[in-house]
Amino acid sequence: MDMKERIQEKFRTLYGTDGQLFASAGRINLIGEHTDYNGGYVFPGAIDCGIVAEIKLNGTSKVHAYSLDYDEYVEFGLEESDKPSQSWASYIFGVCRETIKRGGKVEGFNTVFAGDVPLGAGLSSSAALESTFAFAINYLFDNGIDKFELAKIGQSTEHNYCGVKCGIMDQFASVFGKKGSLIRLNCKTLEYKYFPFNPEGYKLVLIDSCVKHELASSAYNKRRASCENAAAAIRKNHPEVEFLSDAKRVWLDEVRDQIPEEDFLRAEYVIGEVQRVLDVCDALERGDYETVGEMMYQTHFGLSRLYEVSCEELDFLNKLARKYDVTGSRVMGGGFGGCTINLVKDELYEGFISAAVDQFTEKFGHAPKIYNVVISDGARLLQ
Ligand code: ADP
Ligand code: MG
Repeated sequence: MDMKERIQEKFRTLYGTDGQLFASAGRINLIGEHTDYNGGYVFPGAIDCGIVAEIKLNGTSKVHAYSLDYDEYVEFGLEESDKPSQSWASYIFGVCRETIKRGGKVEGFNTVFAGDVPLGAGLSSSAALESTFAFAINYLFDNGIDKFELAKIGQSTEHNYCGVKCGIMDQFASVFGKKGSLIRLNCKTLEYKYFPFNPEGYKLVLIDSCVKHELASSAYNKRRASCENAAAAIRKNHPEVEFLSDAKRVWLDEVRDQIPEEDFLRAEYVIGEVQRVLDVCDALERGDYETVGEMMYQTHFGLSRLYEVSCEELDFLNKLARKYDVTGSRVMGGGFGGCTINLVKDELYEGFISAAVDQFTEKFGHAPKIYNVVISDGARLLQ
């Protein structure tokens, strides 16, 4: 039985009726890393794994929710004081509350849901969950909230109900995702544009190192401070520079001896990365996936040597990708662990993946996980 059928069967057993089915997706980011807080571009897309939820209004003031994956049933009210203790339920509760805060109507409903985004692997299962319910509630109560605001409902849920101070990219990709398209989002202006991504003859595959080095959050704050410091130095010569992403490369060179070398290298990476996103977009419009791949390697190099947020496991996977003629490979996400994202020719896929699994396991004592992804639709009503 597939996920949808299991949901429908459970829904009928629990509630004795049928509801409507909604879905949303996890996401990848092809390129544009550590650019969001620098006012630069990110370039995400929704993927073919996500959350599916069946929902029907129940005429009460309570939400009745069943998580198939956790095999747990929870009931909660819709007042601020009704926050459920189960973390999965607090995402749904948060989405309800954030909808209400925006003037939307929310009343009681019954739901059963399940998902197939690996949790905590960097594919944003939480955004898939939030955007499924944000979209569904907006639809069912006919609230007329626009799509960007639906993404912000997910983001605010993370901030206010789940203790995660995330940016907007994950929820944006999950809500706006479209099959066969990546979306370039300008994190300063929030303008976005779709670009075709149909890599025929290639696979997009993530290799999860299954490590998370503890350095991550302190290092993240230090990187942000370096970027702000570099931007401030450049701003003295070029007042139009609000964020580091506004700066030209030569403007960074002008201040090289006014800032610590470390800050210079961080800024060099960011300015390069903003340009690489634009180059990848141009390449995609020509269907030039070889250039896309080369840019991914350049990003990895920058993240590893200039921004210094890679780690032994990720550098190992990246080097192996080069050795096996993989078209593009880089660490995806904040760094210090998590996944590499790889663009691999079909005929090289088997050899590369089996080598990566074997050699990684031999070196690090545990197997990596492999996730094949296809760029797919985001939040939607299922027919
Ligand atoms: P990620 O990087 O995957 O977003 P998070 O820690 O932000 O990792 O979110 C994972 C949380 O989202 C889980 O702990 C759970 O509360 C919720 N979640 C995600 N997928 C599911 C699911 N299929 N069923 C229930 N809860 C889920
Ligand atoms: Mg998350």
